Amino acid sequence: MNTHEIDMLESGGVKPTSNRILVLRCLGASKSPMSLIELETELETLERSSILRVLTVLSEHGLVHAMEDGRGVTKYEVCHSTDHGTQDDHHAHFYCEKCNKVYCLEDITIPHIPIPSGFELKGVNFMLKGICASCRQQG
Ligand SMILES: [Zn+2]
Ligand SMILES: [Zn+2]
Repeated sequence: MNTHEIDMLESGGVKPTSNRILVLRCLGASKSPMSLIELETELETLERSSILRVLTVLSEHGLVHAMEDGRGVTKYEVCHSTDHGTQDDHHAHFYCEKCNKVYCLEDITIPHIPIPSGFELKGVNFMLKGICASCRQQG
């Protein structure tokens, strides 16, 4: 039980605490990136400040990617790359202006960006905006 999450945390150099396991499992079960509020709703037993602390640690270690959606809300998703902290797993996202959902466009990878020497890249935000297929169907 929980071995997948424990493995992920340990491989990222993070001590597997119960809060971290809970947050990681919840994010991993979600099909689309989740905001802090959405996580708080799912994880009723955890305080918002505890969840935020966990998310900060996980993003610092590259286990979780943080991105801003079209409204300035930060969304989080589990990094699926085995080589954390690189640009390998970075894909584009689509923000729907109607339902406010963020979709992963896993097939659209972000090209490697040659940053100037001396700079350290912490994240790449590639967010497309528009109306998603299911909202378009509803008219
Ligand atoms: Zn939509
Ligand atoms: Zn994604």
